[in-house]
Amino acid sequence: MSLDKLLLGKPVADKKYLLLEDKIKFLKTKGVIPKLAVILIGNNSASKIYVKSKEKKFKTLNCYSEIFQLNENISKEEVSSLIKKLNNDSSVHGILLQLPLPAHLDAYDFLSKINPMKDVDGFHPENLGLLFQGNPRFVPCTPLGCIEILKYYKIDVESKHVVVIGRSNIVGKPMMSLLSQSGNATVTICHSYTKDLAKYTMSADIIICAVGKPRLINRDMIKSGSIIIDVGINRINDDSKKGYHIVGDVDCDSVIDKTHSITPVPGGVGPMTISMLVNNTVLAAELSIK
Ligand code: NAD
Repeated sequence: MSLDKLLLGKPVADKKYLLLEDKIKFLKTKGVIPKLAVILIGNNSASKIYVKSKEKKFKTLNCYSEIFQLNENISKEEVSSLIKKLNNDSSVHGILLQLPLPAHLDAYDFLSKINPMKDVDGFHPENLGLLFQGNPRFVPCTPLGCIEILKYYKIDVESKHVVVIGRSNIVGKPMMSLLSQSGNATVTICHSYTKDLAKYTMSADIIICAVGKPRLINRDMIKSGSIIIDVGINRINDDSKKGYHIVGDVDCDSVIDKTHSITPVPGGVGPMTISMLVNNTVLAAELSIK
């Protein structure tokens, strides 16, 4: 595999952390230490791992994070009351509701109850509205991380044809907005009802794939010299000690010599998501003293 074609996330995230460390030090001189409150409901093992790694990162940066672990069978009223309490707690700058939720709870209902000034995931309708107006406040972490990768590697999207695959509120839709508004790219959005996906991907200068299906994109579906950002995270069971390994949505081995460059999975977009969460929490702390 040609390693020079890999768009690694770690150097991008590390550069961002250096900038954030300065901001955190400055906030400290004003008596403010950024604090994230994470609401974790139930026993989803992947969610627990994500939450732990977020907590660890906040600690390394001398910021606060507190996890509110709630029972799988918690009522809607109890979750709402916790959100209200955190909304009113001035020491908390960011509130994150770890998704997915147990089936009896409605994520949209809770997300719209989070104070939009503490909505560091950027999922509140007010923040999504501002983003779509072209006047963003908090931008969802994963699409923001993809934009940071493109900037770091000096990949200009202006006037390029970017095909975004996946139309979720978490990745695909905010991605489309960022690329078409501030990036001035021409964006095509594909999804599960798109017929003949390859017809679109073959004409893409840049492909951003956020689906959750291993090997969705292969060599025959891309044009030579295209750039690929693979957001997908898929667990493949194997005989290793861990019992599985992680792959993206793109068959990296098959496409790499045909691409200009590609984010690997793991090691590409993944490291960016937590750094953007810290970025948004620091921003929330800054906005709290303005
Ligand atoms: P989602 O399930 O909400 O959305 C998936 C999207 O894929 C949908 O819009 C659907 O229409 C589309 N889709 C499904 N099958 C398709 C097909 N055959 N062709 C084209 N489109 C198809 O998922 P999500 O939350 O947006 O996440 C997508 C992937 O990104 C997942 O693998 C997730 O684990 C990963 N992810 C990674 C990070 C990260 O930090 N790297 C963060 C968020 C999500």
